[in-house]
Amino acid sequence: METTRSYVDLKHQLPIAAASVMTDENQHEVRCGMCARELYVDEDSYRLYSEALISGLDNPFRCEVCREEYDDLAYEG
Ligand SMILES: [Zn+2]
Repeated sequence: METTRSYVDLKHQLPIAAASVMTDENQHEVRCGMCARELYVDEDSYRLYSEALISGLDNPFRCEVCREEYDDLAYEG
């Protein structure tokens, strides 16, 4: 019974949307923090991701699908 609990824990962190397609700018592979899908981000975002993991924080990245789910939950309050 911990379906919604992780959302609460993440409240202090903004989820960062990342695209699932590699582009010239976004060449660093990360994983969606919720569904573990491969995403691609630029160097700055990748550094943030590395620092979050090193610091023991949750993976802040979300694929487009998971981010929409997060938004829905946020609106429901
Ligand atoms: Zn996802």
